[in-house]
Formats: sequence, structure tokens, C-alpha cells
Amino acid sequence: MPGFEVFGEEEKQQISEVLDTGVLFRYEFGEQRKGVYKVLEFEKNFAKYCGAGFAQAVTSGTAALKVAMTALGVGAGDEVITQGFTFVATWEAILDIGAIPVFTEIDETLNMDPDDLRKKITDKTKCIIPVHMLGAMARIEEIVSIAKEHDIPVLEDTAQAAGGRIKGQHLGTFGNCGTFSFDSVKTMTTGEGGMIITADENMWRDMSEYHDHGHDHAVNPGGRGGEGRSFIGFNYRMMELQGAMGIAQLAKLDSMIAAQKANKAKLRAAAETIPGVKFRTLVDEEGDTATFFAFMLESSEQCNNVNKVLADAGVGAINFSENSWHFYPSWEHLHKGASLAKSGYPFMDGQGKRRVVYDPDVLPKSADIMSRTLVYPVSIKMSEEQIGKMCEALKKAGKEIG
Ligand SMILES: *Cc1c(COP(=O)(O)O)cnc(C)c1O
Repeated sequence: MPGFEVFGEEEKQQISEVLDTGVLFRYEFGEQRKGVYKVLEFEKNFAKYCGAGFAQAVTSGTAALKVAMTALGVGAGDEVITQGFTFVATWEAILDIGAIPVFTEIDETLNMDPDDLRKKITDKTKCIIPVHMLGAMARIEEIVSIAKEHDIPVLEDTAQAAGGRIKGQHLGTFGNCGTFSFDSVKTMTTGEGGMIITADENMWRDMSEYHDHGHDHAVNPGGRGGEGRSFIGFNYRMMELQGAMGIAQLAKLDSMIAAQKANKAKLRAAAETIPGVKFRTLVDEEGDTATFFAFMLESSEQCNNVNKVLADAGVGAINFSENSWHFYPSWEHLHKGASLAKSGYPFMDGQGKRRVVYDPDVLPKSADIMSRTLVYPVSIKMSEEQIGKMCEALKKAGKEIG
């Protein structure tokens, strides 16, 4: 990560094709746009790349989660299970559609623990959202099979793992749908933007209409505005400039991943010298997008000692126990139930009763794993000097921490 490192002539060319028509909107302007439909083309390319039947572009990865859950029929009063290690967007989207997020432990994949998922399923569970965090896969086949036993749809939050695969099959195509983000720090970026992929044509049609205020998208001789509506919608439309960026970035995705993999391999080889080190479990190493390198030590004390050596060398790693955006025990606004709504919704029900209470200490297994895990972001263009410095520091930690 991230794709902005490789912006070049391809992006400029794509953008200028849009500016040449003057049409920034994905719908309408038939003659003026001279056959240029960038968002539509991006959707088609993205679906084809992932081996998915259909793709729906939206304004962000967070919007993608909301549009997908809405099309799956999830809403107020339902429970949606996700993992306690994810970006806040995953559960913001769940709360925003009126549903209640329920959090599972992670295992050493740093993603949803399937055993804990089984324990968290109730009669109210209407969707399961495993997240492919830090560029690599959850145990998605196991999770989908558990969900099938209970007839619950699976939405894969693939925001951080575009281009990731298991045995060649793209992440995002194992469950009922997969959502992606193209925000400024994601592997491929359109500035802001998101996508949902699915094999289900009806779901795609609902998403297409819902994300565009409910316009039924039937061909209407009177033009846009004269169509009917089957249900209420909202506006999550992607604009043509973003579609243009997406076309250029998608064409580079495999080469971005290859560059990251080469960089990651060097870091991994250096980290192997640390006694007792373990690496994050990868269900399929070949299908990793290598946007991050995560390794685990035997104890939190050893982890802190290693990170001290790395920090002293000017290359400290991330410990997500201390990161407030991605890990359940640090989401103090969730635990407090802090909301701008005077009624306290979505944490309160509007009648002064609490809908849900979150205790920061309920995911001890995740807390243990996180306290022992160090993470380096891996970028596409890392200088030999930077990688050399990181590798030296890792080897030094290996020598000093016995
Ligand atoms: C980035 C991200 C999102 C949200 O994407 P935006 O495009 O920033 O709205 C959702 N889930 C995860 C796991 C993310 O990393």
C-alpha cells in the first residue's frame, strides 16, 4: 500500500478523457459524453478481474458496506457479526443501518476466529462480516461453511485486500458479496471510492437502484427522472473522475502486489533471526497482497523489547494494541456509546433504553495476540536503504533478544 505511489501517465490520460467530454456524472448526457462511461467501464473491469459476475461502484468502502447490507435485507434490530480487529468503518456501517454489531475474537490469521463465530451466532444474526485485514485472508471457506449451516449471508469486507486470493480465487467472491475501498491509503486508490462484487444479479440490481435514490434504471423514453421506484434509496454514486482513476489503478494492481511481495520477503528473512518469532498465519501465502508484514513474539514483554530495538534504530513497528482506530479495546466512543443524536441513538433506543452495551474486556484472546504482534506497512516503492535499515534493525533485535 498505497497505489498513489505509482500515479503516472495512465491516470492522467484517463482523467483527461473525462475532462474532454465535460461529463462528470455516470448517468445521462448521452450525446455529450461521446461514449465515455468510466464508472461503468471500471465496474466491468473490476468484476472481470475478480472473477465476479457483477460489480457496483459507490462513493467509499463504508458506503459499500451499507449498500451491500441493505441489499441483503439487513436493518434495524438485526445483529451483524464482525471481528474485533478491523477499521471502525465496518461497525460504523452496521450501526448506521440500525443493526447491532457483535464482535468475535481473532486468531493468528489476525482475522475472524471461526470457533468464536460459532459461539456468537444467535436467532438475530442476519449477516456475518469477516474482514480480510492487513492485506491477507480470513479463514473464509470455514466461515462461509458455518454461515451456510445457519443460512446467514456472508459479506467479505475486502477493503484492505483487493487482489488477494485463495488458490487463485479472489477474496470477495467466497461469500454472498465482497466490498472494497479505494480511499487514499488503500492498495489501489481513486481518492475516495468503493465497490461491491457479487454473483447474484438480483442483489446487484437492488444495489444499483438503491445507491441512486431508488431510480429503477428501466429504460425510460422520457429520460432520467421519469422512471419508477421500487423502494427508497440514497445517493452513493461514484463520479466519472473516480471511475477513470480506478481503470488506471486496477491495471497496475498485480504489479503493485508483486513489488510489495518482494519487499516483504526481505523483511521476513531478516525477522526470522529473532528467537521464537512466528509469522501471521496465511491461509494461502501465494494469495497474500503483502501490504503489511506481521510477526508475533512469545510474550508482550519480548514484543516490547524487540520494538524498542527497532524504534531505537528509527524503524519502530506498529503494535495494534496501542492503535485506537483498529482494535476493539481502544474504541472508547463505542464503549461509551457516544453519539451526536440527542436521543443517544444508535446506542439508545429513543425511549431512553440502552440497545447495546460494550465491555472492552470481552476479547481476551485477541488482546493476547495483539499484545505480541508487530506490524510493518509494506509499500510498493521502498528504497534499498530503507529496507536495509529495517532488516539491520530486525537482525539486531534477533541478536539482543534471546
Ligand atoms: C478503509 C476501510 C474501510 C472503509 O473504507 P472507506 O473507503 O475509507 O470508507 C472499511 N473497512 C476496512 C477494513 C477498511 O480498512
